[in-house]
Amino acid sequence: MARIAESEIERLKREISVQRLAEGRGVKLKRHGADLIGLCPFHDDHEPSLVITPGKNLWNCLGACRRGGTVIDWIMLAEGVSFRHAVELLREDLPLGSSNTRPGVQRSTVPKLPAPVERTADDRMLLLQVVSYYQESLKQSPEALKYLENRGLKSAEMIETFRLGFANRTIGYRLPASNRSAGAAVRGRLQKLGIYRESGHEHFNGSVVIPIFDLSGQVVQMYGRKITPNLRPGTPDHLYLPGPHRGVWNEAALTVSKDIILCEALIDALTFWCAGYRNVIAIYGVNGFTEEHRAVFQKHGTQRIYIAYDRDEAGEGAAQEHATQLMEMGIECFRVQFPKNMDANEYALKVQPASKALGVMLNRAAWLGKGERPTVAVIEPVKAEVVKIEPPPEPVPQIEAQTQQQNVEPPAAPILEEKSEDKIEAAAKEENAIPLPASLPDAAEAKQPRGSSEGCSSLLIWNAAIGATPKLNVSVVANAVTQRTRLSCSTKRKATRD
Ligand SMILES: [Zn+2]
Repeated sequence: MARIAESEIERLKREISVQRLAEGRGVKLKRHGADLIGLCPFHDDHEPSLVITPGKNLWNCLGACRRGGTVIDWIMLAEGVSFRHAVELLREDLPLGSSNTRPGVQRSTVPKLPAPVERTADDRMLLLQVVSYYQESLKQSPEALKYLENRGLKSAEMIETFRLGFANRTIGYRLPASNRSAGAAVRGRLQKLGIYRESGHEHFNGSVVIPIFDLSGQVVQMYGRKITPNLRPGTPDHLYLPGPHRGVWNEAALTVSKDIILCEALIDALTFWCAGYRNVIAIYGVNGFTEEHRAVFQKHGTQRIYIAYDRDEAGEGAAQEHATQLMEMGIECFRVQFPKNMDANEYALKVQPASKALGVMLNRAAWLGKGERPTVAVIEPVKAEVVKIEPPPEPVPQIEAQTQQQNVEPPAAPILEEKSEDKIEAAAKEENAIPLPASLPDAAEAKQPRGSSEGCSSLLIWNAAIGATPKLNVSVVANAVTQRTRLSCSTKRKATRD
């Protein structure tokens, strides 16, 4: 469950006017010294017993209900919602970036949050709407972004391409109340789809969610990875929608490449993808190699498979078994041999840069067929383009380029071309370190972007959102081969380095 920052709560209390909330609810207010008084809307009031103190932005009922407090207390009572939901509603009314330091000039009413799913949508559309909602939640969740970053998956492009999301229970706040017929109906449908459990709990709550699409863009399955540490014993880390495993994640890769990297888990596959090896798909755990996997290999004429399962007993067993089946289908199989007991993700985190390390593993993969290892082309990562996503609605923090040179570690993702250590060194020397605000509210207050950081704005926001290391290193590397200037962003990652 994402914690709401204290500073955010304070901001809402400061910037949303309780006077306007009351007026928006039809309360007629009269001045009374420094206060405003009116009929309390929360009890059957005949004498004005509601007192609002604009100077402190507080309210208080001196009559029968004796309620009072801040704008959050007002919304909790007025809308009959929890503290968290009230904060959500207020936030929606006053998004970051519309930051206004003068209290009392905000909108007069707090609208109900728009429903993330439409009651009239069919099941396919409903699932797509859930995916969209989760994706938005991920982008606004520092803890989920941090989780991805810690797993070496810091890529806005990845989030956009695969529509990664985060389920944090807030979807329920946006639906009509469950005691109303509309609310019950839509919840019933989401329950049928597996988004809600029979208990009423959100199935993927607390998980990063990876939807699995078919080639026509329909959601056929969803995978959730719990990100909360220290869950109750027995709580599964890996979740799927109920029913059999369906679909093949990133099936599109098979349509463009006859050589496929096959991972044991989606996080491993994303690791390869982020490192520039985009011809990658995944099974759903060692017992999740399905008929559909075999069918798509056949359908798209896959010729070679690099099995990159975990290098543990279960992974080895599954690799042997699946290779046997695949070779019977006429597909050449290779085993990627990570160090003992390691999986692709761990390995990529440990041996940097990941694109190079994984490349070595792929090109040294053991031939599983009989006789001589066939000659195959050297596998190289794609030359990732500058990550660009739509500029975020928030103003980008003002950045000051420091002129001093800094020695930095190579980036985690191979946005740089990494032909040699020398080149990495050379790139590092061209680093400009620019300071970043440590938290988002500061970022929102800043005015204008400066410098050529456009391509980095998404990552700036990423960093700002996750309150990460307050420094961002921008390196501009003139690529001798293509004569193109590439821009890359990286933050120092400590946890995974040692
Ligand atoms: Zn009252």
